[in-house]
Amino acid sequence: MVSTYPVKVQPSGYQYLSIVDVSPNQQLLPLSAKVIDHDFLEIGGCDVKTLVQQFGSPLYILDELTVRTACQQYRDAFNKYYKGHSQVLYASKAWNCLAVCAIVASEGLGIDVVSGGELYTALTAGMSPDKIYLHGNNKSHHELMFAVETGCTIVVDNWYELKTLVAILLEQDEQDQAKKIRIMLRLTPGIECHTHEYIRTGHLDSKFGFDPNDLPEVFSFVSQQSRLHCVGVHAHIGSQIFERQPHRDLAAVMVQWLREAKQYNLELAELNVGGGLGIKYTESDDPPSIEEWSRAICEVVQNVCAEENLPLPKLLCEPGRSLIATGGVTAYTIGSTKTIPDIRTYVTIDGGMSDNPRPITYQSVYRAVVANKMSAPLTETVTLAGKHCESGDILIKNVQLPKTEPGDVLVVMTTGAYNYSMASNYNRLPRPAAVLVANGEANLILQRETYQDIIRQDCLPERLK
Ligand code: PLP
Repeated sequence: MVSTYPVKVQPSGYQYLSIVDVSPNQQLLPLSAKVIDHDFLEIGGCDVKTLVQQFGSPLYILDELTVRTACQQYRDAFNKYYKGHSQVLYASKAWNCLAVCAIVASEGLGIDVVSGGELYTALTAGMSPDKIYLHGNNKSHHELMFAVETGCTIVVDNWYELKTLVAILLEQDEQDQAKKIRIMLRLTPGIECHTHEYIRTGHLDSKFGFDPNDLPEVFSFVSQQSRLHCVGVHAHIGSQIFERQPHRDLAAVMVQWLREAKQYNLELAELNVGGGLGIKYTESDDPPSIEEWSRAICEVVQNVCAEENLPLPKLLCEPGRSLIATGGVTAYTIGSTKTIPDIRTYVTIDGGMSDNPRPITYQSVYRAVVANKMSAPLTETVTLAGKHCESGDILIKNVQLPKTEPGDVLVVMTTGAYNYSMASNYNRLPRPAAVLVANGEANLILQRETYQDIIRQDCLPERLK
């Protein structure tokens, strides 16, 4: 049977910055994707093949409409379904750079950062420190100092960090001794969910967060620290989750922590349920919509608080993948092909595990289209190989494509999350450029690395010259 791509073409004339009536995490292509002149993929009003000619290959392309729509859907759902205050944070590990931080800030979101580098980027992009939350299970002394100086909230992960933080505060000058530092406590909720073991974090055997059995001791310790203002609790159970029940269970468990804290005179007013909503990477993935997921959490927190007679906490969540993944695609240029009769055909692109390490790390599955042959019949089943010196550098196994030739532009979909942010220079490949597209305009948001960039940090000792 000859099939063609299941491309969802948007009605023409979409309105920039309007809320499109679909949840981005349930789509394969960015919301602004269209097929023009029968064959050509356009995103944000820009022809993808032309973008590659203009900005080079490989190229990360980010659709502003999709990202803003996801931000708005999260924000609006929490406003609609939660009677108390709420704040959606963007988990910027998914894709942290100035432009992305600036977009989410302009949509009213806060940000979750996990390192000094991410914190620095968020601040430079103009994110207000009172909307920044610093995570991490081994924050360095320097990172803690940086967070204290900027006034962001520190999500304390473990005893070592708690005690280091107290020591840092003791060392501060006298004039700073009156200042309180906002912290949250990250706890491991002991909730199992069905996702890849590397991206599962809420079960008890996790490197993240305090053991809930330590709760009395942690609350007691924190309540005695005059410089620490403990505002709430945080937990994150994992990523790429399709079920709603684990997050419902999580929210219920977390409300109990708020109740327990009262025994230690801690009035915890914030509850952060983390991120984790899954996205559609393939046709068979069926995640709940952003609105459905948000509603489920809001309702549980409200119900359990009512049962326990507790005031509603400020409710936070911190999605990463579901906010940014679908807005991003990666465009590559097809090069060599190798056919092994009766076994398989390898079609090779000009990138691979250095710009998208997820297939080799998590066995993640992606879908791809040929941007200049969108209506051609899908007659070939091929394995898309990367160009790295590694047999495992396979981007997609057994993908259905039209007949391709060198120079065709292959687009891998849903690469906005954990691609650029996990990219490396393996084999000394320069990292690709990234462009933000909207309304027919493409703006560079990350420059392509050069060979000079590749050796920038190298040092050649005198005696080797
Ligand atoms: N919050 C924390 C603490 C995380 O570790 C992660 C992902 O690893 C996220 C939020 C974002 O998760 P996701 O991208 O699945 O929404």
